[in-house]
Amino acid sequence: MKALVYHGPGVENLRLEEVKTPEPNSHEVLVKVKLAGITNLEYLIVNNLPYSLFTLKSPPPLTPMPHILGIEFSGFVERVGDHVKGIREGDRVAVYEVLFDGTCDMCSQGSTQICRKVGHIGINSNGGYAEYTIVPETNVFPIPDDMDWGLATSLSHSVTTAYHALNKANVKLGDTVVVFGASGNVGMFAVQFAKMLGANVVAVTRDPQNKEWLKEFGADYVVRPDEVVELVKKTTNGRMAEVSINPLGVDVWDKSIEVLGPNGKLVFFGGYKSLQVTLGPLPLIYGREISLISTRIGSLHEFKQVIKYYKKLKVKTWKIYELESANEAFKEVLDKNGKQFIKIS
Ligand SMILES: [Zn+2]
Repeated sequence: MKALVYHGPGVENLRLEEVKTPEPNSHEVLVKVKLAGITNLEYLIVNNLPYSLFTLKSPPPLTPMPHILGIEFSGFVERVGDHVKGIREGDRVAVYEVLFDGTCDMCSQGSTQICRKVGHIGINSNGGYAEYTIVPETNVFPIPDDMDWGLATSLSHSVTTAYHALNKANVKLGDTVVVFGASGNVGMFAVQFAKMLGANVVAVTRDPQNKEWLKEFGADYVVRPDEVVELVKKTTNGRMAEVSINPLGVDVWDKSIEVLGPNGKLVFFGGYKSLQVTLGPLPLIYGREISLISTRIGSLHEFKQVIKYYKKLKVKTWKIYELESANEAFKEVLDKNGKQFIKIS
């Protein structure tokens, strides 16, 4: 089969090669990949930028090496192992990326995304940048025939992350929710979920080209980072926002606290360029009882829940690359307006 194989840091070390098609064991599923997403994770690994998945190692330890990246993807079931139940050959499927043991205390309380033995498809096993890939049966879910492949591919790393972030923020009807990085992989879904929850949604994006589609996705206001504090002040009569969502880390850290009112909640995850932030003058945080809430991806339960929302969710696609030219994507992902995908088959 054809696969985009990572041999080490640098775009030049990501090569399209012919490799052996893997065989599923008795509890695994062989997925014929239709579409794979490009997330910040792959961008950071290929470009050798710092990234943390609990380990703070850069790049994260990839297994096996050479490695097939691709944390989010969807496709058809090609073959199932002898003991796989409920999944049949030919099923259209989405994949939950988190590898979990299902037995630890975190899994038992439903928090599979912080399993004591957490791993990730695409990091601890080969991912979706190949014609075929192996997935444990616990991570494969049939999807409706009319679900868009772009949405199916985005369910785990993008949609579930946004959903989990808003769940943890406990957004209420009428809350003002400020979404930074609104045109990105997760931001575009945070805007949509916040609107569904009845919030007043402020989408923050650098590029004015994103204004129109973000409004269609549910944003009440679309502003640049340098305009957001004034806008929130004006539209809330000085009360400021109840929730801010920060997927960008240090770049908008101060602003994501500044837009909040008393008892406000900052939800943060991801981030690139730097993993370090300065918390800021502490009285600005404790003096107003601001909560800092960190999240990562989402639970298996939340992943299954978001599948039910599929008719209400939209995906903004920026570019779709052919597998043969996918290297190009890793040179430009940082300036994206919408999602990037690789068409595998
Ligand atoms: Zn566990």
